[in-house]
Amino acid sequence: MQERIENLIKLQNVELDRTRLTQEARALPAESTQAEAALAAAERRSAGISATLSREDSLRNRLEREIDAHRQKAARFRVQLDSVKTPAQAEAIEHEIQFAGAEIERLENEEFASLERAEAQEAELAQSRTQVELLAASLDAVRARVAGRKQELVAELAALDHEREGLRPQIDAELLNRFDRLAAARGTGIARAENQQCAGCRMGLRPQTWNQLREGELLACDSCQRLLYWDPAFAPAPKAPQPEAVPGAGRAIRKPRQAGA
Ligand SMILES: [Zn+2]
Repeated sequence: MQERIENLIKLQNVELDRTRLTQEARALPAESTQAEAALAAAERRSAGISATLSREDSLRNRLEREIDAHRQKAARFRVQLDSVKTPAQAEAIEHEIQFAGAEIERLENEEFASLERAEAQEAELAQSRTQVELLAASLDAVRARVAGRKQELVAELAALDHEREGLRPQIDAELLNRFDRLAAARGTGIARAENQQCAGCRMGLRPQTWNQLREGELLACDSCQRLLYWDPAFAPAPKAPQPEAVPGAGRAIRKPRQAGA
């Protein structure tokens, strides 16, 4: 294979690697952000459960005070019961004592229900706190990995830049210019010809072009303008003779231009 073709292929591989690593570097902060968001969500959940628990606590304190008040009231009524004068008075006081007793029972049931809810919430809180600890540890690990990978990427990109700067001066300036324009417009500047097609755009190649490529020439694809080359290393093993394929069937085929010098 011609040296200029080899250099262009190497340069393209370097450029593709640079693009891939640059994209990876750009995506890295998102990994930390995601782990931070997961931790923040778990912390909010814990805080929410804590707040619910303390509301239950306040509720039970209030219930306790109300129960106490009803007990004291009932005790006072029992004292009054000793000095009643008429059955009607006794009946009224008995009624008050009964009412206080019923209220105490109702409030105690409410308190018990609150205790049961608090028990479930405490279990939930413990679980949520474990989750917070796990996510905090995971965030530390993600941050460490991101920082390490960032450093690696800086070194890998520097090595690629070095390789790139070594390759570029070895390539004919006009050809390099063409390659750069194509790479900027299409992502790649050079494409392999395979199965009588341009691997860049899948446009079929004329038999004559295909033959010229197989002789080692560097041509331009008529459809995408990418520089085309043929690599015997990728050629399929010879098969039994078969009817000639129609290259790029159904598509217009134009004569390729000779590329470069
Ligand atoms: Zn093409």
